[in-house]
Amino acid sequence: MHFRSLRFKLTLWYVLILGILLISFSTLLYLTLSKSLHRDVDNKLRSLADLVASESSSPSSKFGFGNIDQTLEASMNLKPMGKFIQVLDESGKIGRRSENMKDIQLPISLQTLKNASHGIITFETHRALGNTPLRIITYPVKENHQVTRIIQIASSLEDVEDALNKLLIILIISVPSALLAASLGGQFLANKALKPVDRIAQTARMITSKNLNQRIQPLKVKDEISRLIETFNEMISRLDQSFNQIKQFTADASHELKTPLTILKGEVEVALRKKRSDSEYTQILESNLEEINRMSKIVDDLLWLSKADIGEIRLHKEQINLTKIIQELTEQMSLLAQPKKIHIQTTNHQEEIHILGDALRIRELFLNLIDNGIKYTEEGGQINIHLLKETSLQVKGPLFPMDKKEMRFAKVVVSDTGIGISNEDREKIFNRFYRVDKARSRGQGGSGLGLSICKWIAEAHQGEIFVESELGKGSSFIVKLPLHE
Ligand code: ADP
Repeated sequence: MHFRSLRFKLTLWYVLILGILLISFSTLLYLTLSKSLHRDVDNKLRSLADLVASESSSPSSKFGFGNIDQTLEASMNLKPMGKFIQVLDESGKIGRRSENMKDIQLPISLQTLKNASHGIITFETHRALGNTPLRIITYPVKENHQVTRIIQIASSLEDVEDALNKLLIILIISVPSALLAASLGGQFLANKALKPVDRIAQTARMITSKNLNQRIQPLKVKDEISRLIETFNEMISRLDQSFNQIKQFTADASHELKTPLTILKGEVEVALRKKRSDSEYTQILESNLEEINRMSKIVDDLLWLSKADIGEIRLHKEQINLTKIIQELTEQMSLLAQPKKIHIQTTNHQEEIHILGDALRIRELFLNLIDNGIKYTEEGGQINIHLLKETSLQVKGPLFPMDKKEMRFAKVVVSDTGIGISNEDREKIFNRFYRVDKARSRGQGGSGLGLSICKWIAEAHQGEIFVESELGKGSSFIVKLPLHE
């Protein structure tokens, strides 16, 4: 496993946290148990000392000066197993001792003796006597406010220490074993959880522009990894779509240029077959020029769009009078519409509407729309340009869908009484080179790029463009641009 891998890091964190928890828990357990066991010993020593003291001071006591064990048994029916008892006089001189002590004497320090002479009980742990640690209570017995005897009772701490040592050994063995097991388990879990990530990486490595149709197998469970896979698959889909668009665009662009070139070639070849009159040459050259103009329009439009794509088209935005621009355009385009006897009129243009925009581009946008209106409307038709102000609520952003603000727009509706656009074509006509009727568009000198340019200009002005249309009745192109007031 690589040290920098996520697997390693996850396992390490897991083991580290578990380690800290287990060690804290074990320390707490050990300390609590040790304290409780020692307290138990002290409590027992204290109760026994109380008993011995009260029994030895009672006038009816059978507590004599014989064998202390027998005395205890006889007087209190008590067998203080594992306890060593020793009685001292007030000066610290050792008197009677329990039999089990044989020759051993319980030690008493000067300080303890001093405490006892002041009536203070002292607990001490001694390790000096053999290997057995002893807990000793030094208990002064008072009679008439005077310390008359000192009782010392010792209890072996062997059992307590044995129990604690056993616990320590169990903990020392079990904590590292648990950590080892946890690290193996953690590795297994991390491996299992991250396996799909490897699959994603593998698929991603295999994907090139040639096989963008490949997808990562989705997981059955819906978790973070499955969301990652979904997102990744969506990304590949978008890439696939973009690549297909580029391919389509290249094919369309070459096709668009090929048609006028083929016509040009054909015309020149026919012209060269035999000698022609001057007027025939002029006619052929005029037709050639028409094709050349068409090609240069396509190339110009393509260049413009590719510049727009890479952000090279700079807009020179200033406050412009939209009413005036459209008025001027209407007058100019009316001349162009005359041969087809199409009448262009404007409505609702009393008010001056200002927007922040690039005058040249805005002119181009509406010129394209009116030009299309003329191209796709039969003789004697009508084009109407309606201009108005509109207020609409706009969602501020995807993060705040409830947060809406009022936006004021200039709305321009360019309607015609032309051939109309079917429902399925309505979205597509804004795509590059898309034309409903190629022959008709070509015949009108169209390149299929006009509306994509219009869309780009509208969006570059934070506006939008869409179409409403009924086949055979006419179309209305609606442009909304933010007002500048
Ligand atoms: P073109 O140069 O072919 O006119 P556009 O991008 O301007 O290219 O338009 C794309 C297609 O949308 C046109 O070929 C035509 O089929 C359709 N179209 C555009 N404007 C209109 C309109 N006013 N009425 C009907 N169809 C239209």
